[in-house]
Amino acid sequence: MSKLVECVPNFSEGRDTAVIDSIAAEIEAVRGVTLLDVDPGADTNRTVITFVGPPEAVVEAACRAGKRAAATIDMSRHHGSHARMGAMDVCPFVPVAGVTMDDCVALAQECGRRIGDLGIPVYLYEHAATSPSRKNLAAVRAGEYEGLASKLAQPEWKPDFGPAGHNPRSGAYVIGAREFLIAYNVNLATTDKRYADDIAYTLRERGRHKRSGNVVPFYYKGDVVVFGEDRFPCGACEHVAKSWDALAAHYRDAHDKDLAARYAALDYPAEAVAGRPVYADGRFSHVKAVGWVVDKYRRAQISINLTDFKVTPAHAVLEAARDEAALRGIAVTGSEIVGVVPFDAMLESGRYTCVACASPPGSRLAT
Ligand SMILES: [Zn+2]
Repeated sequence: MSKLVECVPNFSEGRDTAVIDSIAAEIEAVRGVTLLDVDPGADTNRTVITFVGPPEAVVEAACRAGKRAAATIDMSRHHGSHARMGAMDVCPFVPVAGVTMDDCVALAQECGRRIGDLGIPVYLYEHAATSPSRKNLAAVRAGEYEGLASKLAQPEWKPDFGPAGHNPRSGAYVIGAREFLIAYNVNLATTDKRYADDIAYTLRERGRHKRSGNVVPFYYKGDVVVFGEDRFPCGACEHVAKSWDALAAHYRDAHDKDLAARYAALDYPAEAVAGRPVYADGRFSHVKAVGWVVDKYRRAQISINLTDFKVTPAHAVLEAARDEAALRGIAVTGSEIVGVVPFDAMLESGRYTCVACASPPGSRLAT
C-alpha cells in the first residue's frame, strides 16, 4: 500500500485571495502532493487547506506553506471570529494509509524544527505533544495571539521549537499529529432544529445538562439536575453518591471513566461543584455533534465530527441516531460524508452493514 498522509493547515487569512492563492500555490508546487480543498472564511478571517500525499512531500509542502504564511500574514493586524495564535495557526499531520501515528508525530517534529529555524515559536500538540498539558489544542492556544507574549515568557510554555521570544508578525505555530477527523451528517425528516439538537446532545461525548421529570420525548424540557452539598448524581446512570470522592469511585467502578477528567474538560473546578449542573454523559466518546437546519435540503441535520473512527465508527452513530429519532417519532432520511474518509472507515462500515443484513459475516467483503 502506498503511504498517504493528510495535512490540514489553517492560515490566519480568509479575505485576501492573493495571499491565500500564494500559500496554496506553494503546496501545489510540491511534487506528489494533491491539493484537495481550499476553504476561506471571511468572518473567521481564516482559511483551511486540505492536501494529501506521501510523507516526505507532505512535510515539505507544509513547511513551504508555513514559510509563505510568515512572509505574507501580519498577525499584529489580524482580526477574526475564530481563536488563533499564529499565521499558520494549526497544522496537523494525519495518517490515512500505510503510515502510523508515530510516523505522523515524526513529520510534525520535522516540520516544527524547520519552522522553528525560521525564528517562529512552535508548539507541538495532540499525539505530538511533549507534555500532557500541551495535548489539547484549545489549551495550547488559550490566551490567543494577544496573550502570546506573556505565555512565551512562562517557563512551562517554552516552545518546543524556535525562540521563546515573541515574534509579533508570525505569532506561534501549533503543529501536531492527530487521528483522521470524519465530518458526517445525518438528516432528519423534519425542519425543526430542536430535534437535531436534542439528538446531537444525546450522542456527543460532551453530553449535556442532566435533567429529570419531563424528559421524554424532548430531554431539554426536563428540570436541570444540580450538585448539592451532599448530593452527587452520576451523569451516566441514576446513582446518587454522598460525596465527590464517592461519585468518582462509582464512576470508575461502574462506568470505567474518570470523573475528574470529565469535569476538567467541562472547565469545572473539582472542589466547588455545589449548585452547578450535573452533566449527563453522551452515548459515544470521540463524537462532537450539533444540530442545525440545512435550507438547501429543507431538513434538520445532526452535524457530526468523528474524531476517532476506530473507536466510534460512523455506522454506530447512524444506528443510534435512528433509535433516538424513532423515540421522538421521526425518521432519519439519509446521511452524508463531507470531504474524504480513509478506506478503512468505509470498509468497516461496509462490513457492519453486511452483517446487519444477515449475510454470513465476511461473506461479501472477505479480504
Ligand atoms: Zn453511574
